[in-house]
Amino acid sequence: MLTAGTTSVSRRLLGRLRDVMAGGGTAQERLDKVVTLIAADMVAEVCSCYVMRAGDILELFSTEGLRKDAVHQTRLRVGEGLVGDIAAHARPLALADAQAHPNFAYRPETGEEIFHSLMGVPIIRGSRVVGVLVVQNRTMRHYTDEEIETLETVAMVLAELVASGELVNRSELVPVDGNALLPLRLEGVKLNGGVGIGIAVLHRPRITIRRLVAEDPDVELERLKKALAGIKTALEELFSRPEMRDGEHRDVLETYRMFTEDKGWINRISEAIRTGLTAEAAVQKVHDDTRARMSQITDPYLRERMHDFEDLANRLLQYLSGDDEEVPRGELPENSILIGRNMGPMELFDYDPKRLRGLVLEEGSATAHVAIVARALDIPVVGRVKDVLDKIEPLDPVICDGDNGQVFIRPPDDIRETFADAISQRQLRKAVYARLRDLPAVTRDGVKIAIHMNAGLLLDLQHLHESGSDGIGLYRTELPFMARSSLPDVAAQTLLYKKIMDQAEGKPVVFRTLDVGGDKVLPYWNPYEEDNPAMGWRSIRITLDRPAVMRHQLRALLRAAAGRELSVMFPMVAEVAELVQARRILDIEIEREAQVGNPLPIRVRVGTMLEVPALALQLDALLPLVDFVSIGTNDLMQFLFAVDRGNPRIAERYDTLAPTMMRFMRYVAAKCREYDVSLSVCGEMAGRPLEAMGLIAVGIRSLSVASPSIGPVKTMVRSLNVEELWSYMETLLDSPDHSLRHKLKNFAHDHGVAL
Ligand code: PEP
Ligand code: MG
Repeated sequence: MLTAGTTSVSRRLLGRLRDVMAGGGTAQERLDKVVTLIAADMVAEVCSCYVMRAGDILELFSTEGLRKDAVHQTRLRVGEGLVGDIAAHARPLALADAQAHPNFAYRPETGEEIFHSLMGVPIIRGSRVVGVLVVQNRTMRHYTDEEIETLETVAMVLAELVASGELVNRSELVPVDGNALLPLRLEGVKLNGGVGIGIAVLHRPRITIRRLVAEDPDVELERLKKALAGIKTALEELFSRPEMRDGEHRDVLETYRMFTEDKGWINRISEAIRTGLTAEAAVQKVHDDTRARMSQITDPYLRERMHDFEDLANRLLQYLSGDDEEVPRGELPENSILIGRNMGPMELFDYDPKRLRGLVLEEGSATAHVAIVARALDIPVVGRVKDVLDKIEPLDPVICDGDNGQVFIRPPDDIRETFADAISQRQLRKAVYARLRDLPAVTRDGVKIAIHMNAGLLLDLQHLHESGSDGIGLYRTELPFMARSSLPDVAAQTLLYKKIMDQAEGKPVVFRTLDVGGDKVLPYWNPYEEDNPAMGWRSIRITLDRPAVMRHQLRALLRAAAGRELSVMFPMVAEVAELVQARRILDIEIEREAQVGNPLPIRVRVGTMLEVPALALQLDALLPLVDFVSIGTNDLMQFLFAVDRGNPRIAERYDTLAPTMMRFMRYVAAKCREYDVSLSVCGEMAGRPLEAMGLIAVGIRSLSVASPSIGPVKTMVRSLNVEELWSYMETLLDSPDHSLRHKLKNFAHDHGVAL
């Protein structure tokens, strides 16, 4: 908190700085006046300004108090001396005895040996340090936090002068990678699949704040209020759009709306205004502070939420600088790939989604709100691409390969052509699959294969009808839980499940109860540190230990399915007793709902995932208790072979076409037939045509796959003769091979099976 005294000091100083900056003279002359002013105002014998030059060199550009002939002579590397230290860590230093600091570097040409105390702050522009501002005193002065704040505010004003390009050529301020003009391939992580080819559009080139120092704080406070109101109106407008009617992206923006009312944040901006800054400069200052603090935060959820604040700050800046059309929407190239450090959930809506081919971020995680919105808009996203902004220029050609989490900048022609081919092939295939939509998934010898879809977001539902799938074989209910900022209550869940069933228009939907833990962390539950989270407290283990969560979810499902059929599936069941316990909770809920007179579903089907191998040895006890079983091969494979499903190092060992896995499947399929229990496979392998062919060969007749896989799997099914394959498969199952992949591929090739 700033005291009244320091507020007026810095306001007076800022007023004077404004006069100097607006006055005449060269940039160097203005800088010289500025350092003199600061020294006098802060009662310091020295004030020096160092400016970053090409090659990460900090050059003394102006000083009051040190020897004048050191100006433009004294140079320090980033990291060298105290000035270099401030730049390297982008953080202030205040030292009563500077020479005792281990990083102190003595520069005789400056004559600084007589000054004992030092306070310095980085001059930051965007997220980059462009200089360092220092004051020094002869005595061992203890600088206060308020004094550091004042110097930081002044440094912000100076940042504009440095970045104006008048002191040093602007090109020197942009760190240029040595390979800047060469093609580059950068790795990141896949946040949304798909491939886009286009040209780079840098997301939100920095807004130039033209006025930093205010005449009248009250006027600025009023401007801030108006800008916040403007944002709220824009949000309302966004909410009224048809594509925002529902879906997780709406929840995300609801959370965002709460931020516009965050008192702490608004107070901090107001406080900065009271120190003499304009509203936009105050927003910028709080924004920079937030960024600085953000770099200390390791919790991924908190980091993402901080980005929502950043987004808001950017938006406020646009309003305040009278530039709310700042994003050149009209001029957005036809095939834009957005490149940014990070993005808030609302920002993507600034661009015309039809012109966006991809999004590349320096930060971001799968739970980032922008990733959820991008999924809704079907835009490929690659995140965590280190320093991409430093390596790319606007309008550079870019390939955003969301499928493999990689980005090509200025790709050579051959790579470009390969990707262009892949995209057009994909489009061609899509057209072919679209034509298959209404044709049945029946093999050449008349075996019907049910093809269901896996879903987890409301917006997946749109694919249910267009893909012609038979229903939803796996609805992962945890995804909506992960997109929210708090646990949804019964009413919210009822609404969501009802919408899903309504949109399914009578096609069956299998709701899997909450399957969190492992890598699926709920933002509002403290992750429990475990050595082995995949085998730890996850999924049904959590919901049986926290029965209220299970009860609420089941209650919501029952209410949503009133008058219709409900299918509930329990995940990660390892023993029959767990299924019995979960079923009991369900039965109690059904009874309770009946007692209070709530209408019930016409039928409740209960099923279990089979993804823990031990359950396969309990089928005689299990199968009489369930209506259906769905094999989750993703987890099953990792537990059957003790191979982590997400570890690329052992990916070779994770081959679901291993004969042992196939024998396992054959055994479960036969048992389910014996007990007349429906069986389906819903792990990723079901969506790959070759693997799906293997599954059919061992007796699986129902698959649940991601929507893009429906076409390819159906094509395979319609070209297959099960009888031929079945007898061949029988000869393979006892083979000692690592995998049946090659043999099955050859079979497909020889028998005209379309893979
Ligand atoms: C599986 O394990 O195969 C499965 C479908 O569940 P999830 O991928 O959600 O763990
Ligand atoms: Mg699983």
